[in-house]
Amino acid sequence: MDSYWNPVLETLPREQLQQLQLKKFKNILKWAYENSPFYRRLYQEAGLEPGDIKILDDIRKVPKIEKSMMRDIQGKAPFPYGDILSVPLNQVTEYHQTSGTTGQPVYQADTWQDWDGGAEAYCYALYAQGYRDSDRLFVPFGYNIFIAFWTYHYAAEKLGCEVIPGGVLNTEARILKMQELRATGMGATPTYVLGMAETARKMGIDPPRDLFIRKITVAGEPGGSLPATRKRMQDAWGAKVYDQVGSTEIGHWGWECQYQAGLHVNEAFYLVEIEDIDTGEIISKPNRKGKMVVTTFDRLAQPCIRFDSKDIIQWSSDTCECGRTFRLLQGGVMGRADDITKVKGVLLAPTAIGEVVRDIPELGDEYEVVVTKKGDRDEITLKVELKPGQEGNIESVKSRLVDHLRVKTQLGYILEFHDYGTLPRYDVKSRRFKDLRPKE
Ligand SMILES: [Zn+2]
Repeated sequence: MDSYWNPVLETLPREQLQQLQLKKFKNILKWAYENSPFYRRLYQEAGLEPGDIKILDDIRKVPKIEKSMMRDIQGKAPFPYGDILSVPLNQVTEYHQTSGTTGQPVYQADTWQDWDGGAEAYCYALYAQGYRDSDRLFVPFGYNIFIAFWTYHYAAEKLGCEVIPGGVLNTEARILKMQELRATGMGATPTYVLGMAETARKMGIDPPRDLFIRKITVAGEPGGSLPATRKRMQDAWGAKVYDQVGSTEIGHWGWECQYQAGLHVNEAFYLVEIEDIDTGEIISKPNRKGKMVVTTFDRLAQPCIRFDSKDIIQWSSDTCECGRTFRLLQGGVMGRADDITKVKGVLLAPTAIGEVVRDIPELGDEYEVVVTKKGDRDEITLKVELKPGQEGNIESVKSRLVDHLRVKTQLGYILEFHDYGTLPRYDVKSRRFKDLRPKE
């Protein structure tokens, strides 16, 4: 199949789209209530029955779920998922788990139908990003228990693309293989997209000149929607870079189209609500940050209904030239409610620091932020690398860094300049932010 442009679905007038969402929400709620003891308990305790949802606003009466609730039941029957499982165990065909960066990993079950549905939703993204059945894609991903680029792989196949699984090859071998086979696109984390380009250059391969990659879909961490980071990736590869967001529990709920005007929420498959972090009030106006509460409509084995994802997002006021009526988010996923820490009494999103660093051309791609406590004062150290040959510009770089950081984050930093290539490099997700303050 070579068309995932569905004007009937993707350009529905707002009101009709909301009717569709209401209908799908009611269906999944009823499914979970009838088939999952976990959800039935949760709703009965809240005095809620599926029939209570009559209009879209009623959805707010439905209790939210979060990761810790799934951790509490997993390991029990039906093993290992616990009674959130809403299908007989023998219908489960896929196992994945979260990376466990915020605690014990959460298990995720899918039936074949769920898995195929996830790929189907992802196909709309790939098509909107210009992928076609003439593409040959390289997937530089360690195929394992984490969901990461599995869906990219399956969706690309479903769309008719040719897929080269880059599994256990190391970075050098992956680059040589994509050169040998003239791969036209790939999916990877922003960290790895930048890291691969650096490795290629060390091998004497200039990606825009010597490779054929012209579109890259990035996921797994912020970057694709951050202008300075995106520009670095696009320049390094001579390719268009599109942001894609999703997680193990939810699926791939948002993506950029070729116009790169923001992140479209795939509203035919997912319901995204944004909630004020402090008051819990639902935010429907643009340009106000909050955390995402999300519902996946069509995943039945382990339903995801009003999941408190803790992703920080905001609606955009723009509409997209592509004609899709799926709403846009401004700035992609801006971080997680857990990582946005208070330093010197100011809310700090680590991605804002990365954007400042990558907007200064004399600096390398890598950086590290370390927060410590001296007496009762917080101190932030920012470690950066000057590109080779830029040593003479250190004073000018320093003054721009200080100014831009002050404007973007309202904070002062201790700056450390490190030799090019000496800060840690990461293969998948980075850990560039270190909070070493004693826990209270
Ligand atoms: Zn668009």
